[in-house]
Amino acid sequence: MLVSMIPMLQKARAEGYGVAAPSVNNEDAIYGAVAAAEECNTPVILDISFGLTRNVVRLGRLAEDIARDARVPVAINQDHGREFEHAIWCIRAGFTDIMVDRSQLPFEENIAQVADLTRIAHAVNVGVEAELGHVGQGYQYEIDRDAALTDPAMAKEYCERTGIDCLAIAIGTAHGEYKGTPYLDFDRLHAIFDKVSLPLVLHGGSGTGDENLAKATHEGISKVNLATDLFMAGWQAALDSGCRDGRTAYRHIERGYKEKLMHFMRLFGQVNKA
Ligand SMILES: [Zn+2]
Repeated sequence: MLVSMIPMLQKARAEGYGVAAPSVNNEDAIYGAVAAAEECNTPVILDISFGLTRNVVRLGRLAEDIARDARVPVAINQDHGREFEHAIWCIRAGFTDIMVDRSQLPFEENIAQVADLTRIAHAVNVGVEAELGHVGQGYQYEIDRDAALTDPAMAKEYCERTGIDCLAIAIGTAHGEYKGTPYLDFDRLHAIFDKVSLPLVLHGGSGTGDENLAKATHEGISKVNLATDLFMAGWQAALDSGCRDGRTAYRHIERGYKEKLMHFMRLFGQVNKA
């Protein structure tokens, strides 16, 4: 069934587990993600972004169709929306939620732009995720790790003034593959969790380590974004299968992606939470 990620995440926060938000970039990834959720009897959030997809609106429509037929709750979220127009396209295309990413703007400008789009999204019952602080890139982890960690007091003010539904925070993760070993600031997570009553989101789940992710989802993170690890697992499954043609390769990619996602769902404590 197609639902917004917001009630999904509110329940996760209240009960102390995390919900996986796999990045999907084509039909096979969508089927893999939904199949993983059905096998684990758990909700899932399909993250779709302009960076990874040829046509976000068209893929969103396909995802919507597949989500409606699913036996578990499925949300469709625009990941890292950076343009006003893109957010409107996604809302019109039937996305249940949007992430309005203005995390690289100054505090006041971030608030102003996010508040604007939140008002529009809420008028048509679309949920909004936004980011305060900035989750950087793993390939320059040494520089990005501490560059813009989320301040707990500012996070509280940010949520109140923007009216958003869930907050992405920077506590030491990074996007893509890490150069170096990731270390998370759990004290910061606890401080933000105490001040902010909204569900908290962790970007850059890939390569962060099972122990870190299990701890984070048990101590206040309600949504974990995953991309690199899933795509790599899919690719590895195709290589390991020894398949020699494009037709069957996609099946192996889908299976590898699905199995890796199920690993994370078990890790986050979300099994049987549908
Ligand atoms: Zn992200």
